[in-house]
Amino acid sequence: MYDIDKVRADFPILSREVNGRPLVYLDNGASAQKPRAVIEAITRAYSMEYSNVHRGLHTLSTIATENYEAVRGKIARFLHVADEREIVFTTGTTEGINLVSYAWAAPRFEPGDEIVLSVAEHHANIVPWHFLRERQGAVLKWIAPDATGDIDPQAVIDAIGPRTKLVAITQMSNVTGTVVDVAAIARAARERGVAVLVDGSQAAVHMPVDVDAIGADFYAITGHKLYGPSGSGAIHIRAERMREMRPFMGGGDMIREVTRDGVGYNDPPMKFEAGTPGIVNQIGLGAALDYMMALGMTDIAAHEHDLRDYARARLDGLNWLQVQGQSAGKGAIFSFTMEGAHAHDLSTILDKRGVAIRAGHHCAQPLMEHFGVSATARASFGLYNTRAEVDALIDALELAHDLFG
Ligand code: PLP
Repeated sequence: MYDIDKVRADFPILSREVNGRPLVYLDNGASAQKPRAVIEAITRAYSMEYSNVHRGLHTLSTIATENYEAVRGKIARFLHVADEREIVFTTGTTEGINLVSYAWAAPRFEPGDEIVLSVAEHHANIVPWHFLRERQGAVLKWIAPDATGDIDPQAVIDAIGPRTKLVAITQMSNVTGTVVDVAAIARAARERGVAVLVDGSQAAVHMPVDVDAIGADFYAITGHKLYGPSGSGAIHIRAERMREMRPFMGGGDMIREVTRDGVGYNDPPMKFEAGTPGIVNQIGLGAALDYMMALGMTDIAAHEHDLRDYARARLDGLNWLQVQGQSAGKGAIFSFTMEGAHAHDLSTILDKRGVAIRAGHHCAQPLMEHFGVSATARASFGLYNTRAEVDALIDALELAHDLFG
């Protein structure tokens, strides 16, 4: 049984007030709050167990290395990846996708080679491909959402042509919560010998994810949305793709030996992890994943689906609000606009009531262009939110409507 009161008590920040009101934190799509288990893991790592990792022989270095490396296995379990050596630590999705762009794509893209991607991508899954377009003549092929905000997997598959080398696609939009059937896309792409990168930044937070079953080549996650520290994250890379990849950054840890005449590289995944890593950030991420796995991803998803359905019904009741993207199976992420009020004004008014939402383009400008808006307001729910907080959102929106409508 999902005990929401107990869950909320695990997050110290949720008991604070903002502008004299209880905090209603609905900006989880941007970054999530941290449970005590994560805060304590970070404190313990720095106060009692800190040292650099991998090369030390003393006790603290051994402990720090064990704690840090154990996170690789936790990420593999969380994502249902059989071989933890396919997990590369990153600072987040942005670094993961850039790693793929520089280390896998750049050496094999010829002018005219194509990347198929959706209009709903976050800039982190667009700009690294624009680099390939600018520098190597890659062609970006865009798939737009349909009227409900869904991305039709068949439209993505149909866009794959003889020059397509990569499909880069999100599993859940950070703007609309739309869920994409990435397994169907990966299956069809692989049959055609085309690689698939999945941006799992949002999906992995809100639903059980089985990366091996999806069968993509690359699956990126970012720790700060998963209730872990910012600057933590990982990318799953299938072993055969790892073998095709040249190193991205050079430095310590990623080498086997260095001479004046040459360099021999470490085995993957360390081949792609140059320099002193975000040791404690990753340890904090491990604690966050332990926390989520203890709650159970199926139960977290069920709780959030209840919030989604409740929020959808209540938002639908506001006929002066336009909600962008209302596909049935979406996550609990709602983007909306109100005539007469800029999204920034909405966010400011709601903040006065202690309700934290985000306003802007959400790093998804092609999607804003598709909707014909420059910005939206976005309420995004997490595992600790409640129906009462949906009500607080609606009350605050009604206040804003009285002021601007
Ligand atoms: N992709 C999606 C769908 C996101 O929501 C985000 C975060 O906003 C990112 C990528 C980028 O993640 P990060 O900035 O943590 O690397």
